[in-house]
Amino acid sequence: MIQTLIKKLKTHQKIAVISHVRPDCDAIGSQVALCLWLKKNGIGAMAFNEDELHPSVAWIQKGFAVERPDTGRLAKADAFVYLDGNSHERFGRPGEFARDSGLPLYMIDHHPDPAGYFEIAVSEVSASSTAELVFRIFEESDLDLIDREVAEALYAGMMTDTGSFRYDSVSAYTHRAIAELIDRGGIVPEAIHANIFDGKKPGQLILLGKCLDSIQLHARNMIATISVTDSMLKSTDSTYDDLEGVVNYPLTIAGVRASVLMCEVDGRVKLSLRSKSVFNVNLWARTLNGGGHAKAAGAWHDGPLEKTLEKVLETGMQQMNAKPDKDQATEPDTYTDPDSDPDSDTNPDTSRPGPTV
Ligand code: 5GP
Ligand code: MN
Repeated sequence: MIQTLIKKLKTHQKIAVISHVRPDCDAIGSQVALCLWLKKNGIGAMAFNEDELHPSVAWIQKGFAVERPDTGRLAKADAFVYLDGNSHERFGRPGEFARDSGLPLYMIDHHPDPAGYFEIAVSEVSASSTAELVFRIFEESDLDLIDREVAEALYAGMMTDTGSFRYDSVSAYTHRAIAELIDRGGIVPEAIHANIFDGKKPGQLILLGKCLDSIQLHARNMIATISVTDSMLKSTDSTYDDLEGVVNYPLTIAGVRASVLMCEVDGRVKLSLRSKSVFNVNLWARTLNGGGHAKAAGAWHDGPLEKTLEKVLETGMQQMNAKPDKDQATEPDTYTDPDSDPDSDTNPDTSRPGPTV
């Protein structure tokens, strides 16, 4: 499939490469690296994203600038490549423009259930990241095209989407690819980690403290939630984007299987769901009209926060009953339907606040 895509890409004059809204390092890293590959192969390239880039992501564009969508510029494309997402809806205005353009649409992604309308889809759920799939384009064409800017962009995508190489999506191939990036790009991993993780404002750490203080445990501690109000953001001079990574903290509490961060954004509530068990948060997010991966997913709810929490717990508990977690079956402290166990602490209304962390 990669070879077919390479051949196809080489038939175009100017390709617009687009990535999903609220882009992370995998989206932008893949986009910058693919645009550099196109350029190095004599193919015109443009990169578009709907949203402003957070500073922890924006530095990746040293080698190739990602533009805000502009109809005049988008109209110059003779094909579109979708990166790190697999349907129009995740791409904002560039996705709508591409959908209506009638031009060939290609896709490179590692999320489940891709839409069927792509002419060529490199869709591999087992890949650690979209950046790993873009690395394969270099590997299957010419590894000598990897320079410092390509290597930094792909390293950033692969490192962040694997939780610094800790998730079960990491393979020996992931590490071999990283070794190539370090050798060929002459990159300094420590500096890349610092670019991404060490540019925080003091308010972000105060916000983190407030988030940790808001942790509640439910369903016999198997589900943890974090509630972030608009006033928590305002009082710490922060925005939603400053919450990157915060949803993972409750997963470090013994027994917690899934963590949900709920944040007030523009009058609605953005949900981030994470799992460290076989409990599938993609299926959970889908019941909330969202999606993502089995272990990292997202969705939106109309709010307010209290209603969102109710809905999240209701659907989460249904999900647990529908798809029992294999890990749970072997443990005495399993989830019990609140209707059949009046003393259970799994009822959303009786959920207790979490420990002081
Ligand atoms: P995050 O929690 O970091 O926003 O997103 C985690 C994962 O879920 C990412 O893979 C992202 O693409 C996906 N995701 C986040 N929000 C949404 C959403 O509203 N809809 C869908 N379909 N996927 C989402
Ligand atoms: Mn990704």
